Amino acid sequence: MNELEQELQQREAEHLYRRRRVVDSAQGAELVVDGRALLSFCSNDYLGLANHPAVIAAMQQGAAHYGVGSGAAHLVTGHMTPHHLLEEELAEFTGYPRALLFSTGYMANLGAVSALCGAGDAVFEDRLNHASLLDAGLLSRARLQRFPHGDVASLSARLAESKARRQLIVTDGVFSMDGDIAPLRALADTAQRHGAWLMMDDAHGLGVIGEHGRGSMEVCGLTPQDLPLLVGTLGKGFGSFGAFVAADEVIIETLIQQARPYIYTTALPPAVAEATRASLRLIQSDEGAQRRGHLAALVQRFRGGAQQLGLQLMDSPTAIQPLLVGDSANAVTLSEALLTEGILISAIRPPTVPDGTARLRITLSAAHTTEQVDRLLGALETTKI
Ligand SMILES: *Cc1c(COP(=O)(O)O)cnc(C)c1O
Repeated sequence: MNELEQELQQREAEHLYRRRRVVDSAQGAELVVDGRALLSFCSNDYLGLANHPAVIAAMQQGAAHYGVGSGAAHLVTGHMTPHHLLEEELAEFTGYPRALLFSTGYMANLGAVSALCGAGDAVFEDRLNHASLLDAGLLSRARLQRFPHGDVASLSARLAESKARRQLIVTDGVFSMDGDIAPLRALADTAQRHGAWLMMDDAHGLGVIGEHGRGSMEVCGLTPQDLPLLVGTLGKGFGSFGAFVAADEVIIETLIQQARPYIYTTALPPAVAEATRASLRLIQSDEGAQRRGHLAALVQRFRGGAQQLGLQLMDSPTAIQPLLVGDSANAVTLSEALLTEGILISAIRPPTVPDGTARLRITLSAAHTTEQVDRLLGALETTKI
């Protein structure tokens, strides 16, 4: 006990202690946090669908028809019509033969990597991949190798040296803490040259970028032939909850047989699947395209304004626009200064990001107005980063 307390105190002293806030409103540009209205720039609800009337109505109707709980895992009696239809619609949307729903993105990643790779295999991961992908590599018992961020030449050299039976390359599409997009074309070519599989987790791209909202694949011009495994999450741009893997028939059937985080967990509530179906329809509609267009315009406006203020932006074309601070204590101080201006932005510190690269992770959403982005720029000017 004493040891744990000391570790907690140490964490506090290093400005790494994490605390939760209680939000008492629906997701949106403005949040009520601990009784106070704040303008938020830290949600992943990039399209503003988490509180969309059509999505809410679909969930209500789903609950009225199917009840709340799914009652069992997919392989028992939990696989219901809304899940099945959502899988078919996600497969069609992404252009893959099949899609398989998971209860969360974390579980989709653990399930996919550990079902496809084991002892004697090798998993190659970008150093900045999401924690769930790195944990997936560890869980698989394959040899896990991390390559420098976006460094395809280094990856290629490691692949050439590897004698592993099966080789899986794993990358984020849009990197969650930096906002940049993986060099997918080069990764796909490298994978093909070495006979390796490529898996991409597009948690922050799907629905949000690409003309049709098909994410990083669409932006980089990749086809399902280039990318055997696509992971999408449904709690971010889709504004709902859950995740899926899209792949061919053989891979999906393998996951159904082997992926423990798929097999040994309760299926998502069917009403959540109904809500996600409504989100997917919105993402594919004119309204979805308008939301993506508005978001892209806000990103341009923010970057232009931040450049004029001389702020240290990262090289990101997406809704994730981090301001690099470096020192954890400074990042926390800045986040607190913005809070006094009524603006909520979290300070992201190690170990979520590498040492010495603490940052304010600003995220923009189609739910923001131009005026709100200008208010953010004004507050950044007064707090003088
Ligand atoms: C958020 C996130 C996940 C986890 O998805 P959940 O559905 O929230 O568990 C996985 N991968 C990436 C890149 C993420 O950003």
